[in-house]
Amino acid sequence: MYDIIVVGAGPAGLTAAIYARRAAKSVLVLEANSFGGQIINTPDIENYPAAMHISGFDFANNIYNQAVELGAEIKFEKVVSISDGEKKTVNTRKNKYTCKALILATGSENRKLGVEGEDELVGRGISYCATCDGNFYRGKIACVVGGGNTAIEDALYLSDIAKKVYLIHRRDEFRGEEASVAKLKQRENVEFVLNSNVTRLNAEGKLESIEVTDKNGSVRTIETDGLFVAVGRIPENQNFAGVIDLDSSGYIIAGEDCRTNVPGIFVAGDNRVKNVRQLVTATADGAVAATEAVKFCG
Ligand code: NAP
Repeated sequence: MYDIIVVGAGPAGLTAAIYARRAAKSVLVLEANSFGGQIINTPDIENYPAAMHISGFDFANNIYNQAVELGAEIKFEKVVSISDGEKKTVNTRKNKYTCKALILATGSENRKLGVEGEDELVGRGISYCATCDGNFYRGKIACVVGGGNTAIEDALYLSDIAKKVYLIHRRDEFRGEEASVAKLKQRENVEFVLNSNVTRLNAEGKLESIEVTDKNGSVRTIETDGLFVAVGRIPENQNFAGVIDLDSSGYIIAGEDCRTNVPGIFVAGDNRVKNVRQLVTATADGAVAATEAVKFCG
């Protein structure tokens, strides 16, 4: 039995592991995919205090190595269910683990656009990760859809690679940071297509053009080699429903102390109800959740 199990090896989960190890607790981190979470897709982190111009990949590597060096055990196994009791149980596809306290730091997954043909065209023109796939569009045309920080950052990144970038957003106001939007507006090869939704994907084996419909119903066809979908994320809490209280959007209900409705189960990072989902708030949650979990272990 471990003192603390952390589900998720993104910045929140790995920070929790660092804090819990420094409090001399035995720690197991379980991760379904690769470590690092969403931040590995960010080419250049500009808003994390004191870490100037570090890539998300390097940031993730550093935090992972720090957790391992401090003695956290990390296993790559997908958690399929949890249960509460005198001890907490965590079931993966392969194994069953128990712990005194549990920290859920599973983050979120890409939201789909929901346009016909989207799934079939993934890897053939549709992508959810500009830093992973942007290089395929060197000298070509790329579209980005969304109005949050991810879409703005993706469009900025792609404008250095592609010959032309369209940023398509359903409103004319952005959720993304004003400073980044201002930077994007200065790029000569970027065109904003606002108050518009992507309504059709035209493909012959691979994506060739998209249709966008504006708020007046006018349809425009944009020839493009790629469409980067950046329309937000969905919290990965499906496996915890029934054990932990979630809000109507699927986020785990917990305040700034990261305590869920179940004693001994804590949440850290983007899968928690919160107003600001940033790297710095994810790592802060990791520290708070681990401190609470350590106290719970006694
Ligand atoms: P987000 O902030 O939730 O933005 C999603 C965008 O997609 C919104 O502009 C939304 O439009 C649009 N959208 C949602 N569903 C859509 C649909 N079906 N069709 C068309 N458009 C749709 O998501 P995000 O940009 O992925 O960011 C997630 C979180 O990570 C945010 O808190 C963000 O600040 C954070 N983040 C931080 C950094 C950083 O710290 N450097 C980098 C990336 C992301 P509306 O605005 O009209 O709702």
